[in-house]
Amino acid sequence: MTQQHTVVLIPGDGIGPEVSEAVTRLFTAVEAPIQFEQHHAGITALAESGEVLPATTTEAIRTHRVALKGPCTTPVGKGFTSVNVALRKQLDLYAAVRPIRSLNGVPTRFSDVDLVVLRENTEGLYSGIENVVTEGVVTSLKVATEKACRRIADYGFAYARERGRKKITVMHKANIMKLSDGLFLRCAREAREQGGYTDVEYEEVIIDAGCMKLVQDPTRFDVLLMENLYGDVISDLCAGLVGGLGVVPGANFGTAGAVFEAVHGSAPDIAGKGIANPLAFIMSGVMMLNHLAESRRDTACQKASERIKTAYNQALADGQKTGDLGGSLNTLGFVDALIERLPA
Ligand code: ATP
Repeated sequence: MTQQHTVVLIPGDGIGPEVSEAVTRLFTAVEAPIQFEQHHAGITALAESGEVLPATTTEAIRTHRVALKGPCTTPVGKGFTSVNVALRKQLDLYAAVRPIRSLNGVPTRFSDVDLVVLRENTEGLYSGIENVVTEGVVTSLKVATEKACRRIADYGFAYARERGRKKITVMHKANIMKLSDGLFLRCAREAREQGGYTDVEYEEVIIDAGCMKLVQDPTRFDVLLMENLYGDVISDLCAGLVGGLGVVPGANFGTAGAVFEAVHGSAPDIAGKGIANPLAFIMSGVMMLNHLAESRRDTACQKASERIKTAYNQALADGQKTGDLGGSLNTLGFVDALIERLPA
């Protein structure tokens, strides 16, 4: 009897339900040993329960420890804090992992990009502490704690070691934010020294120069370690190096579990048209299968993940792509192209 894993599925808003349908179809086609339990967050949840992040959703993630989450929209100007930020904070999902790789069949300026953006997910300018000092003067507080800086640095070095990554680059602006980014740097250095990771190459790059270096030659980088806002911005920059937001998956790890989600947002400009590229969400699903394969030693998850990966690599190589990548397929047409290419 195959092991079945219950995973929380949050379809989300905008293109979320469309890319979620793509994943569920594909998972059914590969007979992935996953039982999705659907819960809501964002505008969809607000309409249904009056809350953007219902406790039933966070409780379900705590129970099952793994979720696949579509992009969620936060209503503008009604005093709501971001759903995505609230979820990461409530579940203490402190490490965002975003692998950025060149894909065959998606030509871009560089053909051999292979980076991982590691983003601290719980503090920095995302703390949401803003104040009106006096009329016309506001402040936004950037919070850095030794605990969170050290925790993401420890995670980064352990990740590099486990995955055979050679180098960690911390991008920062400690020349200006001497205390907050200075603390981030100190924690990274200490994590390397005290954790015995001196075999992992380490460098510190001021983020503005880092952006220039990234677009000039991304192949000189390996793992990029950053505080929250820098990680947000650099993730999109790196997505642009490999074909855009339609091809970059992500995972958020923490003590309460793991939530897999694409880097892209709800893309309201194309929502409801059935044309969104589901690949980033499919790739997030593949990361989730790999996580289950590793953490629960399940070879069926490993097999399902490998089959999906082979299918999308083949589809892209055959020129089967959605509009954002220069192809002509719609969301479900791309899924059909993948299903046709699933290896035995
Ligand atoms: P958020 O603030 O919620 O992170 P964002 O401002 O980064 O969102 P997105 O919703 O990610 O914006 O969309 C940015 C642009 O990328 C839009 O033009 C959108 O249509 C496009 N885009 C994002 N995801 C996809 C996708 N999966 N397929 C095709 N186009 C996409």
